Amino acid sequence: MPVFSLDPEQTDWCAELRTLAVERLRPLAEKGEPGRVNRPLIAALGELGLMARLFADTEGARAGRDGASAPEDGRRPVGAGALELCLLRESLAQGCTEAETALALQGLGACPVARAGTERQRARWLPEVSAGRAVAAFALSEPGAGSDAAALALRAEPDGDGWLLTGEKRWISNAPEADFYTVFARTDGSEGARGRGITAFLVPADRPGLTGSAIEMLAPHAIGSLVFDAVPVTREDVLGEEGHGFRVAMDTLNLFRPSVGAFAVGMARAALDATLEHTARRTAFGGPLKDLQAVAHQVAEMATRTEAARLLVYAAAEAYDTGAPDVPRRSAMAKLFATETAQFVVDTAVQLHGATALRRGHPLEHLYREVRAPRIYEGASEVQRTIIAKELYKERRAQQERTERAPVGERAV
Ligand SMILES: Cc1cc2nc3c(=O)[nH]c(=O)nc-3n(C[C@H](O)[C@H](O)[C@H](O)COP(=O)(O)OP(=O)(O)OC[C@H]3O[C@@H](n4cnc5c(N)ncnc54)[C@H](O)[C@@H]3O)c2cc1C
Repeated sequence: MPVFSLDPEQTDWCAELRTLAVERLRPLAEKGEPGRVNRPLIAALGELGLMARLFADTEGARAGRDGASAPEDGRRPVGAGALELCLLRESLAQGCTEAETALALQGLGACPVARAGTERQRARWLPEVSAGRAVAAFALSEPGAGSDAAALALRAEPDGDGWLLTGEKRWISNAPEADFYTVFARTDGSEGARGRGITAFLVPADRPGLTGSAIEMLAPHAIGSLVFDAVPVTREDVLGEEGHGFRVAMDTLNLFRPSVGAFAVGMARAALDATLEHTARRTAFGGPLKDLQAVAHQVAEMATRTEAARLLVYAAAEAYDTGAPDVPRRSAMAKLFATETAQFVVDTAVQLHGATALRRGHPLEHLYREVRAPRIYEGASEVQRTIIAKELYKERRAQQERTERAPVGERAV
């Protein structure tokens, strides 16, 4: 595994994104209504061409297609490479978390269309999402299915040539304001048959029987519940293959998991920058705070953990883009470590700023509320630990089998 470093082009691009986030996107974010979809902000992300990059056939995506993790079932692995997605999310998060989140949610909602959709579905929705004119959402979680997503219960009951969707989705970002939803439902009539018998559907928001309501969160976030009361869907609305929807969901989450870590790294870097600035300026006991050893050690700890998180995220993204076999473990490690690190770094930044950071509207007060959710969504930290341990044993078993199969003379001693 090479020691990771960005090339000059990538470094320049990240700097450009940070500037755009502060100068162009943050003013739009500040004008938005808290807890509502910010359409002018999404339109600006479209105009800047950043949404389109999510669905472009990038180098990373091409490498992924050719690599070992390329899907076996004919799904189209188009879309941003994982590293590009991580750089985008990390850089935007440093300047404007609202812009970062708006971009990520468009990606999450539309990625299944890009990767598993038909030409007709792609032509109808991807240009609209890329231009920032249509809002997408990813509807997997339910009142009874969060960490255990495979236990989802939304029913798709056969009706003529199609189905009627009945049930509830909860904690769906961009609901109920999105223009279309990627919805995961049970088409096999079973209850709780784990990941089997689930189908992904592309459901436009204007389908009869689909209603929703907003939920207020700790950090303002457009999120809500959806109620499906016999919502009609046809075979033309299926994303991918009937009965293989859980794979579509996991494929999307596998791409996005390291990038949640990148979002966390972006927040940690913003908190660290603010702390370097503040502790150099603020005086106490006859000198700047930075000259107090206890403060300096805290800053060193923040910086070291942030850098370690960043490297884990880039390594996971690189593994995804090159089709390495250890993607699930690396992605889980990156998401776990980066989100837990960001919580530590932001909390320490608040502590080193004192009361001023707790003033409503202070950037750190905003980050303090914002940093909490990523430890829960797209797989809580505990779930990531379970994945890491499971994968470690699997990798060890595979290694042992390889050793046993190798001719005796070629075995490592
Ligand atoms: C801001 C935000 C945005 C979201 N956006 C979306 C979205 O767009 N689409 C969508 O479908 N969902 C979304 N979600 C839902 C999210 O995916 C779920 O919250 C998440 O999967 C956890 O499910 P849960 O909240 O029901 O917690 P539960 O599953 O009830 O788990 C609660 C806690 O139990 C523990 N736990 C659970 N399982 C295990 C385990 N196996 N081992 C050890 N401990 C465990 C963990 O501490 C976990 O945090 C969002 C959530 C938030 C907070």
